[in-house]
Amino acid sequence: MYTASPDRYDRPEGFYRRCGKSGIMLPAISLGLWKNFGHEADFKESLDMLHYAFDNGIVHFDLANNYGTPYGSAEENFGRALQESLGKYRDELFISTKAGYDMWPGVYGNWGSRKYLISSLDQSLHRMRLDYVDLFYSHRYDPNTPLDETLQALVDIVRSGKALYVGISRWPHEAFRYALDYLDARNVPCLTYQGRINMLDHAPIEEGILQTCIDRGVGFVSFSPLAQGLLTERYLSGIPEDSRMRNSINLKESVLTPEMLRHLLTLNEEACSKGMKLSQMALKWVLEQQGVTSVIVGVSRLSQLKENLEWIVG
Ligand code: NDP
Repeated sequence: MYTASPDRYDRPEGFYRRCGKSGIMLPAISLGLWKNFGHEADFKESLDMLHYAFDNGIVHFDLANNYGTPYGSAEENFGRALQESLGKYRDELFISTKAGYDMWPGVYGNWGSRKYLISSLDQSLHRMRLDYVDLFYSHRYDPNTPLDETLQALVDIVRSGKALYVGISRWPHEAFRYALDYLDARNVPCLTYQGRINMLDHAPIEEGILQTCIDRGVGFVSFSPLAQGLLTERYLSGIPEDSRMRNSINLKESVLTPEMLRHLLTLNEEACSKGMKLSQMALKWVLEQQGVTSVIVGVSRLSQLKENLEWIVG
């Protein structure tokens, strides 16, 4: 029988950060369930990581319809965790999900149509055994669906009570600005932009997206803050057999060029000289970018989650 740590909110000052100009505070470190939380994982280990996260002040859990293998299984397992233990803390949790990538066969299970977004959210709620999510994202920009159709679906989702807030993920800058205007005009302001900022990739900074978030009072939530594990000690002396690079198409071995390895080794030396792990320095770097509200880390084991948190919570 799980009971959350009574000390879970004894966090250092600044651990909870205001999300843009909204009423929502998010933890500096959030937990993403893209990998290692679906049926491919050991449920007990997933549950241990979820409990450890919550016991240490992580209240934001980021999902999407197609997370886990098979698709949907991360949401299913998260629903099971809610039912078995975390559900009694529902009002302390900030749960996000998304739709935008391929989820089910046929022409209605992908991209940005009203039909896809609304039915996908219904499926997500069913899998997670929830009445509502806190945040629902359009997961990607759809060049073939009118933006108004996607955005009106987001508005209607909030009005239906199935999501409290909406967010935009990975949209190009101009379309994102259009979305902000559309949503503001309908009193359903965009809560967050979810994009990738890390020490190896700062596109949303260079493209001005982060600045738009600051100007418009929108939170910025960064995914893959560790560049899927590159910005950790994982690949400094070879490619481990149990690593994402070895086992997933999402992190290609070709990324680890001799130049990249040299760069990572230099960053690692810099981290060591600061008394930190490379992963910790990388997370700190993202969180220091003005306008970033939270980083969503992924982990494959509890020890990684501990390492990613201990530098900030002590
Ligand atoms: P990270 O950059 O944090 O990479 C996570 C991986 O890095 C882990 O699986 C692990 O790899 C390795 N790792 C993490 N911590 C450590 C550590 N301390 N020491 C050694 N290795 C470590 O994030 P993700 O790419 O997993 O993305 C995080 C979340 O962001 C996702 O779960 C999802 O919620 C969200 N996301 C959103 C996207 C979007 O389109 N909006 C796209 C991608 C992610 P290994 O498995 O090899 O052990």
